[in-house]
Amino acid sequence: SSYESVALVVGITGIVGNSLAEILPLPDTPGGPWKVYGVARRPRPPWDANHPVEYIQCDISNPEETQSSLSRLNDVTHLFYVTWASRSTEAENCEINSKMFRNVLNCIIPNAPKLQHICLQTGKKHYFGSFEASGIAAHDPPYSEDLPRLESPNFYYNLEDILFEEVKKKDGLTWSVHRPGTIFGFSPHSMMNMICTLSVYAAICKHEGTVLRFPGTKEAWSLYSEASDADLIAEQEIWAAVDPYAKNEAFNCSNGDVFKWKHFWKVLAEQFEVECGEFEGDERLTLVELMKDKESVWDEIVKEYNLVPTKLEDIGVWWFVDYILGIEYPLDTMNKSKEHGFLGFRNSKSSFIHWIDKLKDSKIVP
Ligand code: NDP
Repeated sequence: SSYESVALVVGITGIVGNSLAEILPLPDTPGGPWKVYGVARRPRPPWDANHPVEYIQCDISNPEETQSSLSRLNDVTHLFYVTWASRSTEAENCEINSKMFRNVLNCIIPNAPKLQHICLQTGKKHYFGSFEASGIAAHDPPYSEDLPRLESPNFYYNLEDILFEEVKKKDGLTWSVHRPGTIFGFSPHSMMNMICTLSVYAAICKHEGTVLRFPGTKEAWSLYSEASDADLIAEQEIWAAVDPYAKNEAFNCSNGDVFKWKHFWKVLAEQFEVECGEFEGDERLTLVELMKDKESVWDEIVKEYNLVPTKLEDIGVWWFVDYILGIEYPLDTMNKSKEHGFLGFRNSKSSFIHWIDKLKDSKIVP
C-alpha cells in the first residue's frame, strides 16, 4: 500500500482519540502518511464522521467480539491505547482494564506481523493514587517519571505490567507510556471531560440567569493548577511512536505552564456571558448537587439552540469536576520528555478557549 504507517486507535472517539483522529491523517504528521483504524463501542457520532478513519464498532471487553472485529487488521504498525473502563472500586478497575487491554493485545500481536510500537496512555494518578486512594500516601510533587510505584492498587500499574510482558513476545516491538493530568479536549463521548462539563454547566447558568458559582475548594481556587491539552498528548504519542529516542520509556505530558482556577473562572464566565462567581467559603459546593435534576433544562437548551442531541448524563460529568476542584492539584515536570526531544507545549489559557470554541462550533453547547 502507499501508507508508511498504519495506526489502530482504541478509543477513537475519546478525548485523546479524537485528537489522534484529527492529527494522524494530516499530510505532515511524523511517520506518515498514516492509515487509521479507530475502535469504539457506540455507533460513529456525527462529529467524528469527517475524519478519514476506518471506524470499527467493537466492545473490547468482549474477547470473542474483539477477535472477530480486530483480527483481520493485519497491516497495523502502531497501536494507540487510549481507553479505559470505570468501576466502583479500584480492584474492579484493575480486573476489567487488564481484561480489555489483554483482549486487544491477544488479537493484534499475533495477527499484525508489522506491529512496531504500542503507546499506552495512563495518567498522573500513577503518582497520586487511584480515585479510591486519591492523595493518600501520594508522592510529593512535582512528579517525575522515575518515582517508585505507590503501595495502593492502581489499574495503571496492571496495564504497564501487561504491556512489558506482551512486548517481549515479538522481537523489536517497542512501547511508550504517557501520563497526562486533567485533559483539555473536545470529546462529548469522554468519561472525563473537564471543559465539556464546565461548558455545559455555564450554559445552564446562562439559560437560568444564575451566577457561575465556583464548586471547589480554596486550594483549587487559589493555588497553581496545570492541564494537558489533548492535541499535545496526541503529538507526544505520535512522537514516541516514531522517534527512536522515545522507545521503551514513560513520559509525563502537561502543557508546560501553570494557571489558577480563580483566573480561568473569569474566562469561562466571559465565554458564556454569565456573571462570574467567587470562592464562597469552606462549606463545599458540588456540581453533583447544583446540577441535580437539570436533564429537562438541558433538553430545552438542546432544542432551543438546535444542538447535536446529547444526554446531560453523558456530557455533564459532574463527579469528575467536583473531584478535580476538590484537591490541591499536584504538578509534574516535563524535563524528561524535553530531554528526550519532545519540545511541545501549550498555552493553557489559549487551550481552554480553543476547546470551548470547538464545542460551540460543533454545536455541542450553545
Ligand atoms: P475517554 O473516556 O475520553 O474515551 C474512551 C474511548 O474509548 C471512547 O472512544 C469510548 O467510546 C471508547 N471505549 C470505552 N469503552 C470501550 C470498550 N469496552 N470497547 C471499545 N471502546 C471503548 O478516554 P481517556 O482518554 O480519558 O482515557 C484514556 C486514559 O487516560 C485512561 O487511563 C484515563 O484514566 C487517562 N486520563 C484521562 C484524563 C482525562 O481528563 N480524561 C486525565 C488523565 C488521564 P464508546 O464509549 O463509544 O465505547
